Amino acid sequence: MRIVMVGSGYVGLVSGACFADFGHTVVCVDKAAEKIEALNKGVIPIFEPGLDQLVESNVKANRLSFTTELAGPVADADVVFIAVGTPSRRGDGHADLGYVYAAAREIADAIKGFTVIVTKSTVPVGTGDEVERIIREANPDADFAVVSNPEFLREGAAIEDFKRPDRIVVGLVDDRARSVMTEVYRPLYLNQSPILFTGRRTSELIKYAANGFLAMKITFINEIADLCERVGADVQDVSRGIGLDGRIGSKFLHAGPGYGGSCFPKDTLALAKTAQDNESPMRLIETTIAVNDSRKRAMGRKVIAAVGGDVRGKKIAVFGLTFKPNTDDMRDSPAISVIQTLKDAGAIVAGYDPEGMENAKQLLDIEFTSGPYEAADGADAAVLVTEWNEFRALDLERLKSVMRTPILVDLRNVYRKSELEVHGFSYTSIGKSSDI
Ligand code: NAD
Repeated sequence: MRIVMVGSGYVGLVSGACFADFGHTVVCVDKAAEKIEALNKGVIPIFEPGLDQLVESNVKANRLSFTTELAGPVADADVVFIAVGTPSRRGDGHADLGYVYAAAREIADAIKGFTVIVTKSTVPVGTGDEVERIIREANPDADFAVVSNPEFLREGAAIEDFKRPDRIVVGLVDDRARSVMTEVYRPLYLNQSPILFTGRRTSELIKYAANGFLAMKITFINEIADLCERVGADVQDVSRGIGLDGRIGSKFLHAGPGYGGSCFPKDTLALAKTAQDNESPMRLIETTIAVNDSRKRAMGRKVIAAVGGDVRGKKIAVFGLTFKPNTDDMRDSPAISVIQTLKDAGAIVAGYDPEGMENAKQLLDIEFTSGPYEAADGADAAVLVTEWNEFRALDLERLKSVMRTPILVDLRNVYRKSELEVHGFSYTSIGKSSDI
């Protein structure tokens, strides 16, 4: 199959490289000339484990190429994926579909022969109808079908997720697209990944329902964690105790500083808006959003309390800035709110992240250091915000020796109180009363 990816960000680049690896011929297009220039020089503009080798080998095999010019590749394509961003619209929280519609208009002018246009971006119910209308209006003679094929990959494990998905969802209204999409994903269902064909609107909703449910699950365990702290229970044992129930499942039951990242915050908001607009409000999702929003600043206050209630003029070290490990993505990272809360209270913040420093520098006005011990140098407390492997086995003696006061606030429950106390630390975690 000849495939074009419009948008070469976290999703477009990973999907494009994986499709090429399946044996398809893929052209990744992006408006950002510096991204395409970097890719053409063999430099990967994002951090995603394994992506550099995957891109390199498929470029060498002439199956993967990069350009800013959409028209030529689209004219030759069997399938065109739209994988551009759908951020929250400023002001009202609806998904901003400006990039999707702009891409649709550009594609419309370039289509030649029967072409399947696939929205891989996360888009609200009905967007496929609008994309179809835009293309039809711009190019009444075009022969095309618009398909929804949401992406479920996780940053940090994106290649594995793309190549071994739990399921592939394809929503269509024009049955001619079914055989094309079957061909695109044939290598995957040889690997036994189920492919679920649905209506296009259903497919669009499946993505939001999945992200809404996962965000709700995280938020649920976070509230249980707060209750654990009040009643002398241990949230990690509660998670294990409920997660072993096959009806519940153990994933997404890790209490922490609240969900962040490029998807859950904006997708929960967009789902709530879609539901309100359709007079079917989703109170569970609305509450999830509100609970999660207030949690992030509450985590900042937790640090302030651990330091004795006043951080003015005190130095706080922050370990981990990205919204989760193994990515350089800072979008809506809980670290941003935690740090802002600390700074609002007068703290001096020094931070370190293994891969996110460049992106963090665009967003945060703090001291950036070359490692965790440098951040902790002279600090009155350290906060572990993102559970990078590098922070899982800190040299606690060394850490203590550089800090002014050995206080560790562990927002990811990586450590045990007993082991920290042996090294003379005062230790605070999530969802455990102070004696656990
Ligand atoms: P991103 O911001 O990393 O990438 C989007 C890219 O599209 C950018 O490089 C931008 O320059 C480019 N672009 C915008 N308009 C364009 C146009 N008209 N032509 C060519 N290129 C254009 O975004 P992302 O994280 O890859 O997310 C893309 C979509 O996938 C979103 O809808 C998101 O919700 C969804 N999604 C993301 C993830 C994830 O983990 N990041 C997972 C599943 C789904």
